Amino acid sequence: MRVPTKLQRRRLLGGACALAGAVWVPEVGLLAQQASDFIMGPPVPDIAPTRLSERVWMIFSPDGFPTQQNQGMMSNIVFVTTSQGVVILDSGSSLQIGQMAIRMIRKVTDKPVVAVFNSHYHGDHWLGNHAFAKAFGSQLPIHALPGTLEAIRGSTGSSWRALLERWTNQSTLGTEVVAPNTLVAHGQLLRWGDTQFRMHHYGTAHTAFDLCVEVVEDKVTVVGDIAMGNRIANMDDGSYPGTFKYYAALAQAAGSQLWVPGHGHAARDLLDTYGRFMAGIWEPCLQAVKDGKNEAEARAMVLADSRVAQRAAGMQGFESNIGKYISLAYLEAEKEAF
Ligand SMILES: [Zn+2]
Repeated sequence: MRVPTKLQRRRLLGGACALAGAVWVPEVGLLAQQASDFIMGPPVPDIAPTRLSERVWMIFSPDGFPTQQNQGMMSNIVFVTTSQGVVILDSGSSLQIGQMAIRMIRKVTDKPVVAVFNSHYHGDHWLGNHAFAKAFGSQLPIHALPGTLEAIRGSTGSSWRALLERWTNQSTLGTEVVAPNTLVAHGQLLRWGDTQFRMHHYGTAHTAFDLCVEVVEDKVTVVGDIAMGNRIANMDDGSYPGTFKYYAALAQAAGSQLWVPGHGHAARDLLDTYGRFMAGIWEPCLQAVKDGKNEAEARAMVLADSRVAQRAAGMQGFESNIGKYISLAYLEAEKEAF
């Protein structure tokens, strides 16, 4: 870095003084420190990890949506302790959240992080990559399906970074886009030490590129956002019938599992319970289209469906999003019906 001359420094500080109207002139070093505080959001409070199985741990996010208060902590981070090192299944929404996850991993093991997986391109599942690449090196393999990698490398990646900054009132500042660097494909089996990871992908569910990762020895599968526990899923890039097909194919291939969502608690019946809710949106829409009813009539049918009504109170984002996701279901039903 070029050091300013005495004259330049006096001009710089004089300018700062004039702006602030202050008489006290801070040292250049202090100014730099304040500047770096300004461009770096604050650390995220610790959330103790929960053990889901012998090797699998979750840093659970109580919130499903980003706010200034939660600093973007809106999705679960899962880590797997293998004999060779730690594998991360979704890295969180920011540098600071990834750094919190590393502090939590250190409570459980001294082993290094040896790999990261990103389930899909929504920023709350991969912006934390920055923390892991910073701590464990830029050569750290970060895995994703090809479509996820392309989206994160492209404008989708930088838009998500900007969105998280906006939604958290700049709490995630300092986070850089660190895109995946290692492609995976459906059916692939990867191994770290004593643990195998099987890749699953069955077409469009929540996005066109939802990677589910099965931790084979523990019978635990992390499903990203294809199913959720405590919030309504974003369906802007998704498909309702695609989701049902995905669930059936995944359950058939993996068998009985503890299913771990990106939002909400892990459960053995997660695909059934969330699938029932999604069917409560989809089936009335399809019926409405077949009966020549309009979208408003379809909406009333969905809201009256017990599969939807029962979940409404306990689901974050229900009130603000249900209308939009009924519209999307209705549009897709119109395509499907013809
Ligand atoms: Zn998502």
